[in-house]
Amino acid sequence: MVLEITHIGNPILREICSEVPEDRLLDSDFQEFIDDLIETKRDANGAGIAAPQVGEPWRIFVVEVKDNPRYPYKPQAELTVCVNPKITFLTDLRYANYEGCLSIPDLRGKVPRCPHIRVDALDRHGKPFSREVKGITAGTYQHENDHLDGILFPDRVDDTHSYSTWAEFKLRHEDDVRVAVEAVVKEWGE
Ligand code: ZN
Repeated sequence: MVLEITHIGNPILREICSEVPEDRLLDSDFQEFIDDLIETKRDANGAGIAAPQVGEPWRIFVVEVKDNPRYPYKPQAELTVCVNPKITFLTDLRYANYEGCLSIPDLRGKVPRCPHIRVDALDRHGKPFSREVKGITAGTYQHENDHLDGILFPDRVDDTHSYSTWAEFKLRHEDDVRVAVEAVVKEWGE
């Protein structure tokens, strides 16, 4: 089922989300919620989605990029469900990631993101996993993880002159951003 997406101004997007208890995670209704979260992300063409974006303040997000029309220049990222995730930065370097958000319609902006992170989380069945994520995909993980702490991308935009509507982005910025993204992917592999 496609769920309704919450928008900026809704206080749920500013909550610190709760860890999902393992017995709750394995409940069939919670597993159904995870299916709905994935379906909602795909329906909205998001690169990722976090539970508070559909009104559920749990520490869970989903990342997946597969021929995404919203982000045609983004590298592919396989479907990953992260429950109770912890992100560790593995470098002091930062790159400028031009972000958008399903909860902030028609706004994009440049956010400094770490290009090499480790994610420690549970999968949807409660099994712990640890993986390193790099480059543009690492930016997506940081954006989604921020949602679990009530942080939205404009909170992290360091150059407010980078704000753009989607139409202006396409018209004036997408070609440059594509070149910048290709450079990050070349250096970090994703
Ligand atoms: Zn978002």
